[in-house]
Amino acid sequence: EAKRRGKGQVTIFKMALLDTVSRRVLLEQALHSALNDDQLEVWFQPIVDLNSGEVVNMEALSRWSLAGEFVPPEEFINIAEITGMIIPLGQQLFDKVGCALQELRVEHPNLQCNINLSVKQFRDRNLFTEITSCLNKYQLPTSAFHLELTESMVVETETDILPMMQKLVEHGLKFHLDDFGTGYSSLDRLNNLPFDTLKIDRSFVTSLGMGDDIMARNIINIGNELGLNIIAEGVETQVELDRLMDLGCSQIQGYYFAKPMPLSELKDWLYDKQHQVIQMKSKRQA
Ligand code: C2E
Ligand code: MG
Ligand code: MG
Ligand code: MG
Repeated sequence: EAKRRGKGQVTIFKMALLDTVSRRVLLEQALHSALNDDQLEVWFQPIVDLNSGEVVNMEALSRWSLAGEFVPPEEFINIAEITGMIIPLGQQLFDKVGCALQELRVEHPNLQCNINLSVKQFRDRNLFTEITSCLNKYQLPTSAFHLELTESMVVETETDILPMMQKLVEHGLKFHLDDFGTGYSSLDRLNNLPFDTLKIDRSFVTSLGMGDDIMARNIINIGNELGLNIIAEGVETQVELDRLMDLGCSQIQGYYFAKPMPLSELKDWLYDKQHQVIQMKSKRQA
């Protein structure tokens, strides 16, 4: 009996393993064809400035659904990074973001967009040309794209990425340090890298809502001391928002204002938002 059960457990264990592996293989193949057929989408999440009440920029986030099932970005981005498919993925993303921004800027001339980058993209010599020719193609100023690098990526590859980073900064692109506070970087090293903005990781925003403000408070202070702009990510509640305002953080990204959405929805959202601001202004004037 025990032996039989033992054997069964081994089989189940192997099945579980096989499942993970075959999911991985299946996703890898499917991602390959999705990229060939240009099936990935880009969604946008607005970033709001509380002082002006305006949408200052937004973050582009890749979306992929396979046979009606939404595949989490963390899963397919990881596969894309390992296999090198992140290069064509990034190229398609730049193009979609550029195209969307050109259209949106007719109504919202100052709108900018943040794009997430991975290490492999950063090691690609063509990155600079890809970004600048995309900006040219859609007649966008260099300030239209902001590039996000996660803190953990920066820690792992600091010396590798610095030359490319400097080249892009000299050209006028701005860098945001994503998921800040989770990557164990030394402040001194960070200070030597040309970042423009710190993005407070969502975990510290969630802690704020639970009365623990040590990380958010200190990140905001460091950012201010270093003259950096600060964005809080993952803001979901009024309590979190109020605490962030008290601490002096005015740029907010999170479900509290808006979830990531496709371009068509974003246009409606921006239109409604603009109307609210105009109404507020005319009420004040009256
Ligand atoms: P990230 O760059 O830190 O992006 C923010 C993530 O937080 C997004 O998850 C967004 O949907 C989510 N988020 C925003 N506000 C809230 C909120 O109020 N509550 C909660 N619970 N979540 C919120 P998403 O879209 O699943 O992306 C996950 C990660 O995948 C991103 O984290 C980024 O590291 C990576 N990623 C997504 N798209 C791309 C891409 O095109 N290229 C690269 N290299 N990475 C990407
Ligand atoms: Mg990001
Ligand atoms: Mg983040
Ligand atoms: Mg993240």
